[in-house]
Amino acid sequence: MAILRVALPIPKRRLFDYLYEGIKPEVGVRVRVPFGPRKLIGIVWAVTPDSEWDTTKLKAIEAVLDDEPVLNKTLLKLCHWLTHYYKHPVGDVVQTALPVALRKGESSLPKPVTFLTASESGARLELAELSRAPKQQKLLEKLQASELTKTIANTEFGAPVIKALLDKDLIVKVEKAPKFETNWQQQLTVVDKPTPNVEQAIAISCIEGALGQYSSFLLEGITGSGKTEVYLQAIEPVLEQGKQVLILVPEIGLTPQTVHRFKYRFGIEVGVLHSGLTNLERLQVWQQSSKGQLGIVIGTRSAIFTPMLNPGLLIVDEEHDASYKQQDGLRYHARDLAVVRAHAENIPLVLGTATPALETLNNALTGKYQHLILKQRAGNASVASQHVFDIRQQQIQFGLAQGMLDRIKQHLQQGSQVMLFINRRGYAPALTCHQCGHIEQCKRCDKPYTLHKQLNKLQCHHCGSAKPIPRHCQNCHSEDLTAIGVGTEQLEHGLAEYFPEYSSIRIDSDSARGKNKLDKMLDSINNNEHQILIGTQILSKGHHFPNVTLVLILDIDGALFSADYRAAEHLAQLITQVAGRAGRAEKPGEMWLQTHDPAHPLLQDLINNGYGHFARYALLEREHAALPPFTFQALFKAQAMSAQLAHEFLAQVRHFFDHVPNVFCIGPLPALMEKRQGQYRMQLVLQSTQRSHLQHALGQHIHQIEDLTLANKVRWSLDIDPQDFS
Ligand code: ADP
Ligand code: ZN
Ligand code: ZN
Repeated sequence: MAILRVALPIPKRRLFDYLYEGIKPEVGVRVRVPFGPRKLIGIVWAVTPDSEWDTTKLKAIEAVLDDEPVLNKTLLKLCHWLTHYYKHPVGDVVQTALPVALRKGESSLPKPVTFLTASESGARLELAELSRAPKQQKLLEKLQASELTKTIANTEFGAPVIKALLDKDLIVKVEKAPKFETNWQQQLTVVDKPTPNVEQAIAISCIEGALGQYSSFLLEGITGSGKTEVYLQAIEPVLEQGKQVLILVPEIGLTPQTVHRFKYRFGIEVGVLHSGLTNLERLQVWQQSSKGQLGIVIGTRSAIFTPMLNPGLLIVDEEHDASYKQQDGLRYHARDLAVVRAHAENIPLVLGTATPALETLNNALTGKYQHLILKQRAGNASVASQHVFDIRQQQIQFGLAQGMLDRIKQHLQQGSQVMLFINRRGYAPALTCHQCGHIEQCKRCDKPYTLHKQLNKLQCHHCGSAKPIPRHCQNCHSEDLTAIGVGTEQLEHGLAEYFPEYSSIRIDSDSARGKNKLDKMLDSINNNEHQILIGTQILSKGHHFPNVTLVLILDIDGALFSADYRAAEHLAQLITQVAGRAGRAEKPGEMWLQTHDPAHPLLQDLINNGYGHFARYALLEREHAALPPFTFQALFKAQAMSAQLAHEFLAQVRHFFDHVPNVFCIGPLPALMEKRQGQYRMQLVLQSTQRSHLQHALGQHIHQIEDLTLANKVRWSLDIDPQDFS
């Protein structure tokens, strides 16, 4: 009899022992077990001869769900590392690593696929006989030529057409195991490969020289310098050896254009993983990749858990992007996990960006990563010139100074597109009473409501609650309510009135909601259907707008004076990324920043010397201030209906660390956002100059913290290497 130590989806930092008779299942397979009145699906984490519990009281496993482990050796290693490094409940780590379908108990073996094919009578039928049902005619014509999967037929023709043909017995359904012999290596071709410039050639040969062993590269190249081209040419020899490549991209960066570029170059199917897929679609990519049937897999954060049979290369594009850090549950950083994975699989890792995160840059400057630099734009495109625009004492209309409006006009008249960036959606960030100064606030978050004129609502951007726009001030009953500040909606409205002869388009999470909507909007921009583009963050992520020659960035002053020490870094990344959207395709571009503080040293450094210079200087500042990456942090957060309760819990947590040498505690303090959804939020930061000291102290006390009585009364979390202090 064996004892299985099982990781269960329970928010406890421990494993659960079960009995098992028969052939020992392998570590990494799923089992179904009784847990109280429930049945849970867990993963066999270890097989041991004995238990620390009374073995006579242990329950038996109910079923083993897999013949082969769903977590292969690499993924198990990653899960071990995640559990240990993030001090996170093992069961939840395993859950995060598995596709949802497998968590729910779906078979890990490929499902048969339903095909449609012409029946005997359907094959013989003269198509003209269906001339009164043209859609049926068209589908039958296709099926007479070859079979189609039901899914494809469904999207192309719709279910009623299929049903009609099935009812007439002209077509039949056939279940088939999915083809597993798809041999992408035989389809592999290389199309339209440009000759790399010198910088690219160096980068490509460095990466190529490292294939077959671990090493990490920072590919630091300005936007448009041909980083993607470097990836493509570095991938080529990997695919030729029959090995697989995993590419991570930021959430908003995963567009059909990105995928198409890889597909087109190599002529092979590319596995795509993003949040829009169904659970079964995700599972399918997971299965194919784990069987080595995909040469390239591209995906967002959680794609880092995609198993590969023959791993060859890992790429993290836009490695500085915030979406790589998960902000709830297991708060892992996919870029850091990529380093661990590259080690585990003994393959190279390429981190590419125009604006490296300070952590990554530091690793490159200290020689931990090899540093590859692209300074030139590929082809003949020029770099956008960058300027600050002083708006002190200027008259402002819908957020824009007259000087800016004149400049917009000039570019529009030249037949170019203009892009305006403001990181605030809605019409205005607050509604105030002109008589008494009262501001409408969300009572659950103590923050002003955002005015959304189009929706005719006030909406809280922190908790999502909304209410109709009031007619009177709640304080003094005056009807004199005015919007303060500017959001995308107001900017769009104002520009449309000011430039009626040009078409404008607004791209933010309100307008780009819905399937493929963003892609359609991007297409319409590239087809020159709109001349004025207004947007939030979404516009800063990797989209190329060749006809944009003017970029305006509004309302950044808040970030210059933020309490968050990362705000300057993020602002500099954003400005540089947004500026990089202009001046492509050999049209010289310019970027303007509107500010009340034109002499701010950060802006001046960034504008005059570029991100690379700014970032190196910012690293020095971090070093002097003893902040990451020169120190290491862990963040305990707690929230509760009462601020006192949250405070008390964190005070108890602090107690464990107060006397630990080389670990400093800051807090408990209110979070930057003190209240949200009616919950009071507090935090405690632990900091050390040695990662190992912090790790050791956390490892020693995390179980005691978990066992505190208050731990069940507040909502709390631990965030290692925190990015977000809001
Ligand atoms: P990045 O990923 O750094 O933004 P891309 O790889 O997308 O840059 O390159 C920008 C543009 O320049 C693309 O249109 C690309 O096809 C083109 N390009 C890149 N490298 C070369 C090259 N060596 N020769 C010609 N065109 C290139
Ligand atoms: Zn009032
Ligand atoms: Zn709210």
